[in-house]
Amino acid sequence: MLRQVDYIIVGQGIAGSMIAHFLLKRGKKILVVDEYNPNASSNIAAGVVNPVTGRKMVKTWLIDEILPFAKEAYKALEKDLNISFFFERDIYKIFSSQEDAEIWKVKKSDSEYEQYMGDIVFLDETEVKTPYGAGIIKQCCWMDVPGFTKAYRAFLSQNGILLAEEFNFEQLELTEVVRYKDTIAEKIIFCEGFKAYKNPFFKKIPFAFAKGEQLIIRAEKLKTDKIISRNIFIIPKGNDLYTVGSTFIWDDLEETVTELGRKEIQSKLNKIIAVDYTIVQENAGIRPAMPDRRPVMGSHPDYPQIYIFNGMGTKGVSLSPYFASYFLDSIDNGTEVFREISVNRFVI
Ligand SMILES: Cc1cc2nc3c(=O)[nH]c(=O)nc-3n(C[C@H](O)[C@H](O)[C@H](O)COP(=O)(O)OP(=O)(O)OC[C@H]3O[C@@H](n4cnc5c(N)ncnc54)[C@H](O)[C@@H]3O)c2cc1C
Repeated sequence: MLRQVDYIIVGQGIAGSMIAHFLLKRGKKILVVDEYNPNASSNIAAGVVNPVTGRKMVKTWLIDEILPFAKEAYKALEKDLNISFFFERDIYKIFSSQEDAEIWKVKKSDSEYEQYMGDIVFLDETEVKTPYGAGIIKQCCWMDVPGFTKAYRAFLSQNGILLAEEFNFEQLELTEVVRYKDTIAEKIIFCEGFKAYKNPFFKKIPFAFAKGEQLIIRAEKLKTDKIISRNIFIIPKGNDLYTVGSTFIWDDLEETVTELGRKEIQSKLNKIIAVDYTIVQENAGIRPAMPDRRPVMGSHPDYPQIYIFNGMGTKGVSLSPYFASYFLDSIDNGTEVFREISVNRFVI
């Protein structure tokens, strides 16, 4: 029997999940096609949202708009799914020099930044080394992204709107609408993360995929509930476990861990903590990053019923809710998304 839906969504990482969520909220009928991949970026993501970054403490692009939106969306989803996956947590940004501390003091007095930048603190040197102090970054968040995608997948499956398989492009038929196997849809949105390189409709988009590796460590004597940052993040997960990462590698697109990656993380970690630890797990995934660090969305120039929503790069947690909603508004209203994030900024 034929199934009729408004949208097929291919890919159920954080991007596809947010598209699915906002479509359902708009009363649309959907089918999500996703091949589970334990190494998909969303199943690896450290899950940190950091509103000010870098040595010079620059505000993250659009953070004043996208952060409140993300918080509201995730809190509503926690209620819908009856689980907790989104937590507001300060970051302790460890300074590497006195000059870093001085930069912090100047930036903190700027009214644009005061809501995000707090006091300078010195931590217990037997746990965390802070010879020049650490600035408290406020309004940060940690999301258990794999926990969320797993719960959302279960929700889709329970509602009979998940096709758990690899999307087969040979079975896609295009007329004015879209047919995939026994499903007819008005539109199809591809949210495939880094696997977009295999998509025949969008493979000319010049992604700048970035591999990331990280460690899960057990450190019984490390007693912080804050996220620690100095070139890498140390994120408390409970039960003495911490996620530590991540690396950035642009010339290796294998979703596998390497000795080089582990050594790089350990060398940075050893400069931060003064306690013993053991590595309990290592993982690696590929970020769907863009050369201009902006997401990419819009319809195919020759097939208006085919769309892409991708390019979340290093910031899938903060970007996905706001832009999923904004993108669906643009589809509903028949308007173009703004140029900086549009698929039309590339020749495809
Ligand atoms: C090590 C690491 C650390 C990170 N840390 C952070 C962080 O702290 N904060 C942050 O905001 N972001 C972080 N990120 C980035 C974040 O993970 C990404 O921005 C985000 O997960 C991208 O989500 P996505 O849904 O676009 O892609 P993905 O998560 O890759 O999801 C795509 C989905 O589509 C499926 N799929 C693809 N092709 C097909 C097909 N043909 N058929 C069926 N299914 C298909 C895949 O199996 C997958 O389930 C990190 C990434 C890595 C690798």
